[in-house]
Formats: sequence, structure tokens, C-alpha cells
Amino acid sequence: MAEAASQDATGGASLFPFDNTYARLPERFFTKLDPTPVQAPNLLLLNEELARELGLDPAFLRSAEGAQVLGGNRIPEGAEPLAMAYAGHQFGGWVPQLGDGRAVLLGEVVDRNGVRRDIQLKGSGPTPYSRMGDGRAALGPVLREYIVSEAMAAFGIPTTRSLAVVTTGEAVFRERALPGGILTRIARSHIRVGTFQFFAARRDTEALRLLADHVIDRHYPDLRQAGNPYSALLDAVAGRQAELIAAWMSVGFIHGVMNTDNMSVAGDTIDYGPCAFMDTYHPGTVYSSIDHGGRYAYGNQPGIAHWNLACLAQCLLPLIDESEEKALEAAQEIINTFPDRFRAAHTRRFAAKLGLGTVRDGDADLIDGLLKAMEEGKADFTLTFRGLSDLSGEGTADGAVRGLFEEPAAFDAWAPAWRARLAEAGRDDTARQAAMRAINPVYIPRNHQVEAALNAAVENNDLEPLHDLRAVLQTPFEAQAGQERYELPPRPEEEVKATFCGT
Ligand code: AMP
Ligand code: MG
Repeated sequence: MAEAASQDATGGASLFPFDNTYARLPERFFTKLDPTPVQAPNLLLLNEELARELGLDPAFLRSAEGAQVLGGNRIPEGAEPLAMAYAGHQFGGWVPQLGDGRAVLLGEVVDRNGVRRDIQLKGSGPTPYSRMGDGRAALGPVLREYIVSEAMAAFGIPTTRSLAVVTTGEAVFRERALPGGILTRIARSHIRVGTFQFFAARRDTEALRLLADHVIDRHYPDLRQAGNPYSALLDAVAGRQAELIAAWMSVGFIHGVMNTDNMSVAGDTIDYGPCAFMDTYHPGTVYSSIDHGGRYAYGNQPGIAHWNLACLAQCLLPLIDESEEKALEAAQEIINTFPDRFRAAHTRRFAAKLGLGTVRDGDADLIDGLLKAMEEGKADFTLTFRGLSDLSGEGTADGAVRGLFEEPAAFDAWAPAWRARLAEAGRDDTARQAAMRAINPVYIPRNHQVEAALNAAVENNDLEPLHDLRAVLQTPFEAQAGQERYELPPRPEEEVKATFCGT
């Protein structure tokens, strides 16, 4: 397809092998509209590997015409641009209409692995869902999403991806004038819990069924055969969320705005705003400048996911059973399984981080014991687990890890229990260390480094720190010579205490 298209006299505009399905849903699912053109789109970052995975030609995307497409000035052949409608609970408060206020879905392509992927421009201008917003994005937050979402992918955690960043040649006005940017975001879909809520609030059961069937076809095709596909869908979404939140927590990730409109039904991390990775371990950690009550703090994420899933359950009731009572009972039963499923996923991940192999009774307590010691000792989350990966099962030379604790007594008390458990697992030390190093990253997108890289790019047009950071984060489990500075937590004066969504 790409080959035939590259000979196309239109000069590459048909290079996107679009195959759209969301656009086939009824008109009340979206508003068709083109991106608003920008003055001077200029390509800043391109994810070539992802482009190839999508069957797109990196050379075209790098061309002047490619920048016109990525900036929304030129609509590629086969695109059916639309802004999706959705609703949502923001910080617990119901908002009946949100929707893509600054994004346009160009269309879908089926990638090299047969997976359907959305291609969306984020920051592409106002839509009927913009409310008071300008429909635009500042370059800083766009680069932030690129860096953090690609780091997530490198960790192997389900996420939307970032294909490209263009600058627009226009200013956006926040507290001050900032350069504008557009992110080309790739997702298995952009369907959210809030998409279901949009139709449920309108008592539009026909739309709910179409949406649920679309989601099943796209993300859970095995469920077509289920006795009750809709309760099975709820169950499957809950399962993916349990895994996702456990995965986030295993790398110290705090999403920051887990509103129901920011929760993907495919189980991907979506809508990177004031998200951040924790340095010092504390379950109450919050960075988002708008999360005053700490609703979306690190340790609250499983509880919030549970709450969001209950919102999804509520939407699915009319599909699950004609009898409201029966539907409610079935949905409640599924939702009630979430805490245990999350705990199981969390224990499995952290047991692996500790090199324990298969989970046994008592492992959850052992994990808890370490986390408590880290909290008390103000230990760096990432360095602690990576440090443990290097320790031997026998030795007592724990200096490098002990040194991460302000108060090492609690660590000293914990370490023998860990070693006893390792002995019980009976794994060879070298193999155990290698397995631990393969899941305990050396590098995470530390806030101070992300901020520094964004500042250099936005304020000084210096892309080098950004490219460096992006490079180390591409293989986060491998220590890279000469990049030691990216391992380090912030010095007190470097610490970033608040992150902003930049909307
Ligand atoms: P978020 O919390 O960033 O996911 O955004 C919540 C809602 O606000 C969504 O409906 C967004 O599309 C919308 N929104 C965010 N920023 C803007 C903006 N600059 N202009 C228009 N709408 C926006
Ligand atoms: Mg959002």
C-alpha cells in the first residue's frame, strides 16, 4: 500500500492507509470538523520507529508537506477528521459534556501487527467541545507528553504513543505567551469511561450498545462469544485497569488527573497532563498543582480506578440486563472484585521487583515492610529497587542501598527477611539479579530532568537535553555509560514540587 501510494501524483497525501470505523458510528458520537490551520508548522520530533510500525513513511512525515499534515493545515486523503463527544467526572464532580476540546481524530490505520490505531492531532484548534478553551496546546506540555508517554512504552506499560511534535509558529496565551505545539497522538482508541457516561446521561441505550459493541470488537474481540458480552466487558475493563494501575505504581507513576474522561476503556494510560514520577517514596505524593485535596495521590490511584469503574458499571446496567435489579447485582459483583484483583497484580509486580519469583503467602507483607521502611527513611523509589537488584542474596554489604535511607534501621530490620525469602525461592543469584534489573529501571523521567529539558527546548531552542533524555529513556533498564546524571534524584534546589496540566 505504502509503495503504491508513494508513487501517487498527489505527492504523498495519501500515504496514510486510513481505515476508519469510529466515523461510521452515528453522528451524535462526534462532530466532524477539520483542524484549524496554523501559521508555520515545523517538525520538532518524529518517532520514526512508531511511524514504521503504523505503516507510515518517515521521509514523508519529515517533508514540508508532512509538517503541513502534522500541523493540521492539510488533510491527508482518507482522513475523516472529527472531535469525539464524551462526558466525565472531574475531581468527582459530574460534567455532562466534555469532548475533544482541542483534538481532532484524523482517522484509524491498521498497524503492522494488525492492531487498529487512532491518529489524533492534539492542540489542533477549537471544537464545539472547547468550552472556554482556545483549542491549543503549549509546546512545553506537548513535549512532556511525548517524553513521558514514550518512556511508559519503553517500560512496557500500556499507553497512548507519541508520533510527532510540530511547533505551530503561533503563540498560545496562558499566564504568558508561549510557543504553540501540536502532538500527533496514537492510541488503540480514544474511547474513555466518559464516552459511555455521555450516552448513559442521555439515556441513549441504543448508542450505548453501539459503543459497547464497537469497544468489544476493537479491544476485546473474544467477548463476542461471551454469554453476556456487556458484563464480560465490564469485567475485562476492570481486569486491565487493575493491571495498569499496578504497573504505574511499580514505576512510581502518578497520573495526576484520573477523571473518568481520562480513563481509557482499552486499558491504556491516556491524557498525560500534570503526571509525574515520584522520587522519594511516599504514598501521599501529589505533584499536580490543581489536585489540592490529593484525590489522585500515588497511593489513592487504585481506589480511584475502582470508583471510575463503578461509574462505567452504572452506564452498562441497561445493557447487562433488562431487569435493573439483576443488572445491578451482576455489575456490583464484578466491581467488588476490583480491590482483590488490584492487590494480586500489585503483589505480583512488586514480588518480581524484589526477585521473589512466584508469589507466596507473606510476600505482600514483605513488600509492605519495605515500602514502610522507604517511607520512613525517605528513600528514593527507583534507586532503592535498582539497588536491591545489585545486592547479593548472601552478602551483608548493603551500603549502597542503606545509604538511600535517611534512617537505615528500618531497612536493616527488613533485609534479613528478604534474604530469607530469596533463599527459599532458591534462585541463582546472577539470574535473579538479571531478572530484577530487567524490571527495575535505572532511568525514569524524573521531574527535574523533564523540566530542565523542556525549558531548554522552549526557552532556548536547545533540543539537546530533550534528545539525551529521550535516548536514555528508550532503554530504561540498561545503565548507559556517560548518562549517570539521569539516574540521580534532584538536589534540594532542583526539586520540582508541582506540575501543571498547561491547558
Ligand atoms: P484534560 O483534563 O486535559 O484531559 O481536559 C479536560 C477537558 O478540557 C477535555 O474536554 C479537553 O478537551 C478540554 N481542554 C483542555 N484544554 C483545552 C484547551 N486548551 N482548549 C479547549 N479545550 C481544552
Ligand atoms: Mg482529558
